[in-house]
Amino acid sequence: MVKPADTKTAASRKAPKGTRSAAETEKIRAALSSRRDELTVEHSQTLTEITVLQRDRFTDSAGDDQADTGTKTFEREQEISLANSILDRISQVERALERLDEGGYGWCERCGNPIPVERLAAFPSATLCVTCKQLEERR
Ligand SMILES: [Zn+2]
Repeated sequence: MVKPADTKTAASRKAPKGTRSAAETEKIRAALSSRRDELTVEHSQTLTEITVLQRDRFTDSAGDDQADTGTKTFEREQEISLANSILDRISQVERALERLDEGGYGWCERCGNPIPVERLAAFPSATLCVTCKQLEERR
């Protein structure tokens, strides 16, 4: 167990270029938190929809042939994978919030510059600034 007081380890980590003000960090935190809330609502709505749709399918399955059953299974899988992808995004945002607390979030992995708050709010999992992202895409 490494104690948080072990500053040696923290200092040997690659320090990001530049600094971010506390106000800016709070802005990112607020953006990430509201993003997480949005996604949580979206996720529970999706789960409700799945339940309702599934119930409809059961009550409406009297005259189903195999093809109908296949379609319904496929639809259900699609809905579940949608719900799972929302869960993934929630955990991405939660990881981002944790890293933000540690000070390791919001810095471009390539150039070390701070990634703008707006970009982080739109793409919580962004690890590159816009300039570096464009360079990556051009390659
Ligand atoms: Zn960059």
